[in-house]
Amino acid sequence: MNIRELITKSSKEQRKALLNKEVSAKELVEAVYEQVSEVDNEIGAYNSLTKDFALKTAEQVDEKIKNGENLPPLAGIPLALKDNINLKGYSTTASSKILENFISPYDATVSIKLKNNLIPVVGKTNLDEFAMGSSNENSAFKIVRNPWNLKKVPGGSSGGSAAAVAAGEATVALGSDTGGSIRLPASYCGLVGLKPTYGRVSRYGLIAFASSLDQIGPITRTVEDSALLLNAVAGCDEHDSTSLNTPVLDYTANLNKDLKGVKIGYIKELCSEGLSDDVSSAVQKSIEMYKSLGAEIVEISLPLIKYSIAVYYIVATAEASSNLARFDGVRYGFRAKDVENLYDMYVKTRAQGFGPEVKRRIMLGTYALSSGYYDAYYKKAQQVRRLVKNDFDKAFEKVDVLLSPTCPHTAFDIGSKIEDPLSMYLTDIATITANLAGIPAINIPVGLDKDSMPIGLQLQANCLNESKLLNVAFKLEEAVQFNYSTPSKMLVK
Ligand code: GLN
Repeated sequence: MNIRELITKSSKEQRKALLNKEVSAKELVEAVYEQVSEVDNEIGAYNSLTKDFALKTAEQVDEKIKNGENLPPLAGIPLALKDNINLKGYSTTASSKILENFISPYDATVSIKLKNNLIPVVGKTNLDEFAMGSSNENSAFKIVRNPWNLKKVPGGSSGGSAAAVAAGEATVALGSDTGGSIRLPASYCGLVGLKPTYGRVSRYGLIAFASSLDQIGPITRTVEDSALLLNAVAGCDEHDSTSLNTPVLDYTANLNKDLKGVKIGYIKELCSEGLSDDVSSAVQKSIEMYKSLGAEIVEISLPLIKYSIAVYYIVATAEASSNLARFDGVRYGFRAKDVENLYDMYVKTRAQGFGPEVKRRIMLGTYALSSGYYDAYYKKAQQVRRLVKNDFDKAFEKVDVLLSPTCPHTAFDIGSKIEDPLSMYLTDIATITANLAGIPAINIPVGLDKDSMPIGLQLQANCLNESKLLNVAFKLEEAVQFNYSTPSKMLVK
């Protein structure tokens, strides 16, 4: 296999080539940079590259291979890091003007884990500003294009991470998911995207959007790669008090377990109305495949889903309005010039530094938290959130895994929803409940629609049941045989 083909494959195949000394880790990383230089002008996946870091890591890996030393499973595998996660000494912008020149003074916990695992970080990936969006059109710097069709959005907010993996500009990526930002871009770009249980992965060093919802997780080409990257980054962390103090399992251990006796519930409210025909038939096909794999299929009703968008956009914006208060021109990044006094500096810095969607969220959140409205909006939303969680708890008494589409439709045209925030918010209808309930959820590609755009299936499990979730995803992946290398090959001229 030539190296340009190798960079479009899973980490497993790349590792085999590394250990057999068919290629060096340095050559692999260099081939990925070659791909970046050929395609990223069009795709826009990266905000910045971290070339010296990636090459240094690759050299360390090559040295260990030469000496016959043991290597962590993802050593030498090129990774794209979402640009809202700190990597010491490199810029972290959250795709916002307010952080345009900000250099991370410290490593996120996940970045330390990437270093410990000798995983070369190729660069920092584009996102919707402060991770607010579903299409990656809210980046202050540039849009990201979907590698399957350059007229379409890649999904957001981790659109750069997903596009990089789909376009052969990285093998695996880390994203963050507050309401679907890992799963939606994975779905639109034909990849596997996992939002782990709230607290499974430390958020120390992730720029906070909505702290009761944010979670870091992998975007990969295969379910096995997802499990391997989760193994590498999961765990309790003294710097993140919400991280869970429970043992990290080997998430690859049960991937191939047979599905006899496993109960899968399809979510009635998400599998019936409002789906495109292609998504609907792909979901039905997946259900049939699970039946033939020996799983038991039942219908589950989660009637409160209809309130989830409203609840999310109160809770998430309220938390964002508080988290983003720190960007005041004093402590971080951008500061407006020509100001008359301190108040004027605050106002002008924030007015010039934040984009329109971020301002909209701050205003919505501030309103929901203001006295007189707090009880009517924020408190009510928290109460409904509890009821949503109760519904999931009841569902997981009956089934192991819940099934639905990840999004009612496939990737849409760039520009088609950006003027209509409400229709943009509705793309998250299937994903946000997992964040409200704190449960793990995964997207896996299950086919293509009539325009050859990927269709994603979402599976959700109870808290800390990532192993079961990955097992159920793996078996379907095996049955579907989705061709994830398609766009990266199309793009090479
Ligand atoms: N699309 C959702 C939003 O705009 C989710 C974003 C995310 O998960 N970061 O809030």
